[in-house]
Amino acid sequence: MAKIQAIRGMNDILPEQTPVWQFLEARVRDVLGVYGYQEIRMPVVEHTELFRRSIGEVTDIVEKEMYTFEDRNGDSLTLRPEGTAGCVRAAEEHGLLFNQTRRLWYTGPMFRHERPQKGRYRQFHQVGVECFGMDGPDIDAELLILTARLWRELGLMEHARLEINSIGTSEARAEYRQALVDYLGDFRSDLDPDSQRRLLTNPLRILDSKNPETQRILEKAPSLDDYLDDESREHFEQLTGMLDAAGVEYTINSRLVRGLDYYGRTVFEWVTDSLGAQGTICAGGRYDGLVEQLGGRPTAAVGFAMGMERLVLLLETLELVPATVNSDADVYVTALGDSAVAEAFRISETLRSALPGRTVVTHCGGGSFKSQMKKADRSGAEIAVVIGENEVREGVVGIKYLRRDAEQEQVARDDVGRQIAARLEG
Ligand code: ATP
Ligand code: MG
Repeated sequence: MAKIQAIRGMNDILPEQTPVWQFLEARVRDVLGVYGYQEIRMPVVEHTELFRRSIGEVTDIVEKEMYTFEDRNGDSLTLRPEGTAGCVRAAEEHGLLFNQTRRLWYTGPMFRHERPQKGRYRQFHQVGVECFGMDGPDIDAELLILTARLWRELGLMEHARLEINSIGTSEARAEYRQALVDYLGDFRSDLDPDSQRRLLTNPLRILDSKNPETQRILEKAPSLDDYLDDESREHFEQLTGMLDAAGVEYTINSRLVRGLDYYGRTVFEWVTDSLGAQGTICAGGRYDGLVEQLGGRPTAAVGFAMGMERLVLLLETLELVPATVNSDADVYVTALGDSAVAEAFRISETLRSALPGRTVVTHCGGGSFKSQMKKADRSGAEIAVVIGENEVREGVVGIKYLRRDAEQEQVARDDVGRQIAARLEG
């Protein structure tokens, strides 16, 4: 019978890869913790309407990327393509935004029906951060300072650059949109097909086009920053001032617009040149209108999402994962004979108590001394504990060194924790 395989673009993360993920997740958790951000966990499925109303009808995500299906009772549900909408929904639903500020984060799988390629998958993982109730540029600055700290802790700082822009209020964008459409209208037939279509639906997205001919035409296009309203301009100038003071380097990219409808004012992307085409590792911005758009009170909001697969790829490509990050055992406890098996479990428990943070693997599945030693070797352990019927009778255990040339030793059973701790230190 043919074997059933995973769905295209939805990856298994195998045991050899999980240590890198855990390393990354632990750093992220630590950094968010020291800045006082609280974790929130949302379901992966929401009402389709939530994404239509927030992300926008004429975005790539809603037009062609969502996994939407009918529930058994006929409701239209969607696997979340991103986390912001669900986070706002949850925060509103539980009164987290009423008269207070919030700094929230979440992590988990997101789903988009895109063409799978390196750094682009149909199930992928994000860490998202969302801040509510703060309308000044200080919180925008904090988010960028926080991400910069994370890159430093991961060793990624010199491989990432920050691009920022302000896209102003929706009125400013509407004015600019018209100017852009007027300008691009003259070059209509020279634009790539996607951009021709977007001229009618979502012209700002054309600025994002990767097509070289379209990019050439855009060189002389009107610039968004000529259309910025005064308040957005001031907000942005204050933000760049704070980044300067904090020593966070950035470039202003007046073509940066982001693909989702809910953004306004600040937008930003952290980009790397070390991953090829899928170089954006973290992206976000301000979305002051969204909470109200979803039925809540007007609430200032700003956030970002990091692509975890891309960060893992980057850490692997640049070989930035510390050698200490692995799932190797430290001690492997072998047992030959029935009474030895029971003893092996007792000794293993003693060792786990005596050696906090160390990995103690107890051999299971029987087999000869030789085959058990092979497994001990493959486990990566420094030390194999040898327990046979003789050792049980005499109240001792054997200690065999797996990574250095040294004679097997014997220590008293009652002292085994202290003895092995001393040998692992040395
Ligand atoms: P892109 O321009 O690369 O398609 P996007 O604007 O669609 O990105 P966002 O919705 O802002 O991406 O998501 C934030 C981050 O999540 C991205 O910067 C990227 O790191 C990651 N990401 C987005 N889509 C995917 C995907 N299909 N596979 C893997 N990572 C993704
Ligand atoms: Mg995309």
